[in-house]
Amino acid sequence: MAIDPLSPAISVRERYGDVVSNRWPVIVEPQHDEMLSSWLHRLAYANGVVPRAFARVLGLAPGMWSASLDLRLPGDIARQLCANTGVSPDQLSAMTLSHALPKQLLLPLRNSGRRDRSTWLQFCSQCLTEDSQPYFRRRWRLATRVSCTKHGCRLRDRCPCCRSRIAVFNGRRLLPQHRCARCSYDLRGASIITISPGAKWFDRCIDDICRPEALTSSPTGRALIRRLLSMPNLVGGYSAKILTSLSTAARTRCVEKLTCHLSDWLMDDEDIDFKERGYAILSSGNSGRIVEPLTAALTRKRGRPMTANHRQPAAANTELLKAYVQTSPGHRLTII
Ligand SMILES: [Zn+2]
Ligand SMILES: [Zn+2]
Repeated sequence: MAIDPLSPAISVRERYGDVVSNRWPVIVEPQHDEMLSSWLHRLAYANGVVPRAFARVLGLAPGMWSASLDLRLPGDIARQLCANTGVSPDQLSAMTLSHALPKQLLLPLRNSGRRDRSTWLQFCSQCLTEDSQPYFRRRWRLATRVSCTKHGCRLRDRCPCCRSRIAVFNGRRLLPQHRCARCSYDLRGASIITISPGAKWFDRCIDDICRPEALTSSPTGRALIRRLLSMPNLVGGYSAKILTSLSTAARTRCVEKLTCHLSDWLMDDEDIDFKERGYAILSSGNSGRIVEPLTAALTRKRGRPMTANHRQPAAANTELLKAYVQTSPGHRLTII
């Protein structure tokens, strides 16, 4: 029989299922310090799946499914993600919150709905603006973080348009995660909130101290964490007694009250040129030397709640500042 030269050649090939991999069509690379939930939301969006439906892809119920995976990633889901994306188990593990962060200082997942209470996640609008693919950082989950290390502005924990928390996991529409899941507001457009130099200094100091894993395993480190958590009680005037319960705005006020006298001390020192001060005062090798004086500085004097009018530097704070200087030979303090 003659073969029509225009007809398509047909031959038996491998089964489709044998030649295509089980990789999802679009893969996104984890970014520096990215949270697992942020990466999952980007992955879902890139593959055209809304977040609530992506929970079903992973066999999970809706709700705060991705935020829960940040805290604990079950082995079967980790294996599925590795198989479907090609991301290594180590990369997945590095995105979870159990990796090198003090879990006691994490913001809780519960949502009280009150404006002065915490939400589970904070963000810096300038960081999101500068990202080629906007993503949420792991350190934005820490209650001790109130400012952005890079931009110096105060973090936000709510959509400035509808005041709701960041709830990408709940999204029923296909939106990039930098748009509010409730009102679609572009979080990159949020205005910049300034923060006092003293609070910024304290914020960075705590972030540096909390970096080494050794903090949570030493008695002095655990004592410091307890003191940090009790900061609202130390400062006074807050209905919530634990730092993780407060909104970013309330925690910032708390830190500003606490550090105003430290800030005064620094600002009053005319011998120091602030523009020339280097911030690199702490390194993982010597941060332990300031944990004790800092813990002492955060100890409440019975009957003497700290207020903004309390101008006299406490002896403990003087010791703390001495310790800073001692831990930074060749460096000077910077308030940026
Ligand atoms: Zn930033
Ligand atoms: Zn909104």
